[in-house]
Amino acid sequence: MSQPQPTILVTGGAGYIGSHTVLALKDAGYNVVVLDNLIYGHRDLLEKVLQVEFVMGDTTDRTLLDRLFQTYDIAAVMHFAAYIFVGESVTDPAKYYRNNVTGTLTLLEAMHDASVDKFVFSSTCATYGIPQFMPLTEDHPQNPINPYGYSKLFVEQMLSDFDTAYDLKSVRFRYFNAAGADPQGRLGEDHNPETHLIPLVLQAALGIRKSISIFGTDYDTPDGTCVRDYIHVCDLAQAHVLGLKYLLKGGKSQAFNLGNGNGFSVKEVIEVARAVTECEIRVELSERRAGDTPVLVGSSEKARRVLGWQPQYADLRDIVAHAWQWHQTRHGSRS
Ligand code: UDP
Repeated sequence: MSQPQPTILVTGGAGYIGSHTVLALKDAGYNVVVLDNLIYGHRDLLEKVLQVEFVMGDTTDRTLLDRLFQTYDIAAVMHFAAYIFVGESVTDPAKYYRNNVTGTLTLLEAMHDASVDKFVFSSTCATYGIPQFMPLTEDHPQNPINPYGYSKLFVEQMLSDFDTAYDLKSVRFRYFNAAGADPQGRLGEDHNPETHLIPLVLQAALGIRKSISIFGTDYDTPDGTCVRDYIHVCDLAQAHVLGLKYLLKGGKSQAFNLGNGNGFSVKEVIEVARAVTECEIRVELSERRAGDTPVLVGSSEKARRVLGWQPQYADLRDIVAHAWQWHQTRHGSRS
């Protein structure tokens, strides 16, 4: 008889990357409990698409966390719940440190007291700061340039210290630019406010916004616009499943970059979106956005080697096409 699969607690499971990972976990046969405060997460996804156990609440709520760990036999935690807006983190750092750092500390303490000792963490390439070499590898110095990046770096440090002191094992995934959507059209990117390039470009294609502003055309890059490494959200989700399996098999704590290793400029992304959507996409040239790094491209060789990760949708056209399918359905059904 086959063993029952472990139960995984997914915080932020009603958000963008969290929800795609919940589906990947379910496909891999795991039981999933989602904890989400629904400030940015989507309740409709939980009921209609994810169909897993759901606990509404916050990672800062220790009483709730204790009850949760008593109620469910949790084998590991995947922690996506975090605020993600870089600009807001500069104007309201307290909000970011309270939620992203204090919330995570509360969660880690509750885990420790409940003897749950495996943790998969959503970190970010924003912990590296200004690149000193490219592609970025995991041993690149970490010097964030905004409170969002610091909030993630502080958690990385806590995880390292919790491993030393309490033997809590973690995988820290440093994402590059997450994009795309579930190829079956069940899930996609739906932030409010939306600040990310690909969804904004697709909104311009749909006519929901007049145009897309290109933030800076005078960077020291081939066409003057910023270059990023876009990674399909389903490839991120698969990496999380592999990271979980690695920890459940007794793997040691490690950090892994998750990107494709290919850089695309803002102008190139817009060209791909024009080709995929066959729509007019109007462009406005704007000033640089504060805090943007000209080029961010990562090496994910370590995740491939150690975890056996193989991205399925490395082609930017697939990433944009899947996002486009989602945007048409999402915005079409709302109008
Ligand atoms: N960008 C842009 N116009 C927009 C939004 C983003 O030109 O309306 C640029 C941004 O300056 C960056 C790239 O697109 O160079 C990716 O930005 P995004 O916010 O998607 O991700 P980030 O790299 O900031 O995490």
